[in-house]
Amino acid sequence: MNMELSRRQFLGAAGAGLAGTAFGAFGFGEIEAAYAAAIRPFKLVNTAETRNTCPYCSVACGIIMYSKGDLKKGEKAEIIHIEGDTDHPTNRGTLCPKGAALLNFVKAETRLKYPMLRKPGSDKFERISWEDALDRITRLMKDDRDANFVQKNSSGVTVNRWITTGVLAASATTNETAWETYKVVRSTGMLVFDNQARV
Ligand code: SF4
Repeated sequence: MNMELSRRQFLGAAGAGLAGTAFGAFGFGEIEAAYAAAIRPFKLVNTAETRNTCPYCSVACGIIMYSKGDLKKGEKAEIIHIEGDTDHPTNRGTLCPKGAALLNFVKAETRLKYPMLRKPGSDKFERISWEDALDRITRLMKDDRDANFVQKNSSGVTVNRWITTGVLAASATTNETAWETYKVVRSTGMLVFDNQARV
């Protein structure tokens, strides 16, 4: 008999065959399969969704972070799952392997979470507050610019440049943030300016 199969019918039959072989070999019979199917939809119940941007590269894919724990009730929120944002125009829900492994990045013990300072002569970094870090960065930038800003070159041409301090910007920003960062940096005359996406 000449039997015709549509592509959908073929895939359905192949899937059933697989369940009867590979899944069966792993002891994943009907009861286990039904149990897994029943609890899977509940994984994200009672989680809070937060939209964000993957910090790895300049593609800047949209992500949704799912966390448990209500901050308003004094609970500690913990991210339990991260996936691509299907509404995001850049990636439409997809993530590359680096983005798909973001949960490990968030929970990595080596991840830097606070400003750290290694004082002159010291052999170790110490945690400092954001307030102190920003004050220190601002002070050092101002002092360096005052000392090294070049208004005119040796030929008397106005150049207004500052090349003794540089800024490395992050790629996980919106266009607006990137535009503002660029304007602030360039308005100081700074020429040494690059982006983490090129590292
Ligand atoms: S998911 Fe991949 S491509 Fe998208 S921003 Fe992250 S690292 Fe870049």
